[in-house]
Amino acid sequence: MTGLSGLDRTPELAHTSAMPVTYTPLIPINIASIYQGPLPHRMAQCTPDTKTAIELVAHDLAAMGFGIRLSDLFRSHDMQAQSHADFVEGRKKAFSPTPGGSLHEAGRAMDIDLGSIGVPLAQFWEIAKAHGFSPIIDAPDPHRSESWHFDCHGSHHAVYEYVRAGKAGTMLAPYTQMAQSAILAIGVKLDVVPAQDVAFLQAGLICLGFDPGRIDGVEGNRTVKALGDAGADMRDPATWLSHALQAKFPGEYV
Ligand SMILES: [Zn+2]
Repeated sequence: MTGLSGLDRTPELAHTSAMPVTYTPLIPINIASIYQGPLPHRMAQCTPDTKTAIELVAHDLAAMGFGIRLSDLFRSHDMQAQSHADFVEGRKKAFSPTPGGSLHEAGRAMDIDLGSIGVPLAQFWEIAKAHGFSPIIDAPDPHRSESWHFDCHGSHHAVYEYVRAGKAGTMLAPYTQMAQSAILAIGVKLDVVPAQDVAFLQAGLICLGFDPGRIDGVEGNRTVKALGDAGADMRDPATWLSHALQAKFPGEYV
């Protein structure tokens, strides 16, 4: 755990975890790609629910005699930084955000080869949505940028709705806070928050339906109150919360 020293903390909360926090795991997936053979190992990782969704989409396409090839899935913090630099410096046309803002970094987004799916994009949208994927653009136009990108929000969709409803102020984009929540859930560091463990608590509380305010990694009264509302074990709230998330969203952990 990183963050502020114990002296700077709100005294109600302990920040030493006696038990390990359970993060959403990334697991390998064997899936066809635009490269030679399957998607390379460094990209071929995702959360369990995303893996299930990809396999169900591939299954539906296979039943129609088609297939699916991916061009991207997981990006590490460093891979996302490179992708962003490639966009900024003109080596890559499609927009790519700074690290901390993409569901690729949480193993929850796939880029597909639109030429591989065999069905019109509008039909693919229906198949993808039926298995938990959300397109990132608002119409199935294969000529639009990011028409190849699909997100598996999972439990983090609650963060998107929470921010969109104005409960986290108006400074932050719903999609970005959702991505931050999903990245925190796999235990990856966010550059933009001062205390990783506090941000993890805030994100998890929103996913469980509580009201800690925005995910900013700053432990305020609203975060403490939300932990109380959730019935958290204040001696080790991060571990308690990780177990509560696992109990509510088991498909994201196995
Ligand atoms: Zn993408």
